[in-house]
Amino acid sequence: MKDFTASNGGCSDTPILRERGQREVFCGLTSIVWLHRKMQDAFFLVVGSRTCAHLLQSAAGVMIFAEPRFGTAILEETDLAGLADAQDELDREVDRLLERRSDIRRLYLVGSCPSEVIKLDLEKAAERMTARYAPRIQVVNFSGSGIETTFTQGEDACLAAMVPLLPETDERQLLLAGALPDVVQDQALDLLEKLGVGPVTVLPSPRADDPVAVGKNTVYALTQPFLGDTHAALSRRGARHIAAPFPFGEEGTTAWLWAIASEFGVDPAHFEAVTAAPRDRARRAVAKAAETLHDKSVFFLPDSQLEIPLARFLTRECGMNAIEIGAPYIHRDLVGPDIAMIESGPTLSEGQDVDLQLDRVRETRPDLTVCGLGLANPLEAEGLTTKWAIELVFTPVHFYEQAGDLAGLFSRPIHRRNVLQMEETA
Ligand code: SF4
Repeated sequence: MKDFTASNGGCSDTPILRERGQREVFCGLTSIVWLHRKMQDAFFLVVGSRTCAHLLQSAAGVMIFAEPRFGTAILEETDLAGLADAQDELDREVDRLLERRSDIRRLYLVGSCPSEVIKLDLEKAAERMTARYAPRIQVVNFSGSGIETTFTQGEDACLAAMVPLLPETDERQLLLAGALPDVVQDQALDLLEKLGVGPVTVLPSPRADDPVAVGKNTVYALTQPFLGDTHAALSRRGARHIAAPFPFGEEGTTAWLWAIASEFGVDPAHFEAVTAAPRDRARRAVAKAAETLHDKSVFFLPDSQLEIPLARFLTRECGMNAIEIGAPYIHRDLVGPDIAMIESGPTLSEGQDVDLQLDRVRETRPDLTVCGLGLANPLEAEGLTTKWAIELVFTPVHFYEQAGDLAGLFSRPIHRRNVLQMEETA
C-alpha cells in the first residue's frame, strides 16, 4: 500500500491558533434535516421557540410530508417566565403526538437555546416518557442548542445519546458511525462486502428494530469527522476505533478502506483488485475539476467540522494551496491522520474570533473562501469567491464515486468568477 503521509512531515506539529470570540455558525437543530431522512420511524420533537421552528422549516426547505417526522413544541412566554409547568405541557404534547402517530418508534426530545436557558430538564422528561411508552417507543434526548455548538454537532449529540441504549454483543464486527445519504452508504457497504469485511452494522440504523449492538469485540470507523462525542461513547462501551483519514476523494477513501481492511486481515492483492477500478474512476473525475483548482488558494473558516479532511483533499488531490484551515474543534483522535497528510505551511486554527479571522481573509485575499452562509454574501460583495460550507453536508461527497462531484463543488464558484471577470473585461 502507498504511504499517505505528507512529504515534509505534515501539519502534525504545526501549532494551533486558538481563538475564542464571536462565532458565525448555525445551531445543531440543522442536523435534524438530514437525520430524519435516515431514521424512518423516528420523530424529532424540538422543545424550543418560534425561532427554532422557523429555522427548522427554512433549513428543511419546502418538504411536504403527509406525516412529518419533526416538529417543534413551542415554549410560550408563560413557560419562559416560569409561570407554567413546561414539563406537564410537554407530556400532554407527547401524549397527543404518540396517540395520533402509531408509526413512531423512536422519539427524540431535542433541546434548544430557550429550553436550556430555562433549564428544562429533557433528560428527566425522556426517562419519564420511556417508563410510560417502553418497549414500544424509545425516548431519547439530546441538545441542538446553538449556545455552544456548531450545526454538525446535532448529529454527534444524537448518535452519542443512542450509544448507551444499544444492546451488548460479543460478536467481532465492524460498526460504521455517521449518517450518510443512502446511495453513498450503499457504495461503502458494497466495497466492504467485496473486500470480505463483515458483519457490518450502521449507526444510525434506518429502523428501531435493526440489529445494531456494541461490545468489546466491536471495532468502529467514523464516516464523519464531527463525531467526537459518539467516538467517546463507543469507546466507553469497550469498542475500538479504527483511526483513518476520512473517505473524501480517491486517497482518503483508499486510506480509510485500507485501515479497515488491514484490521480484518484483507490481503493487499485482493484490496488492490477490488479498489483499482473505482480508484481510477475517482482519479479521472477529480482531475477534470482540478484543472480549475490547481495553484488556487483556499481559506477555510470554521463551520462544518469537515474542514481538515477537505483541506487534505483539496491540497493533495486538486493542487490547491491552503492559507488557513479553521475548524470549530480540532479533535486529534479523529482528524490526526488527515492532519499528518497535509503538507506543513497553512495556519491551523480552532474556534473563531470572526472579526480577526475576516481581517486575515481580507489581507490574504484567497481565490476561494469556504464559510457559513452568513459570511458568504458580504465576502462576495467584497469581490471574494466563496463556497457555502453547509452544502458540503447536504450533498453526497464521500467515497470514490462522489470524488469528482466533491471537487466540482469547489471548482464551480471559481469557474463562475472567471466567466464573470471575462465578461466584465470584454
Ligand atoms: S436552538 Fe438557539 S440558535 Fe437554534 S434556532 Fe433555536 S434559538 Fe436559534
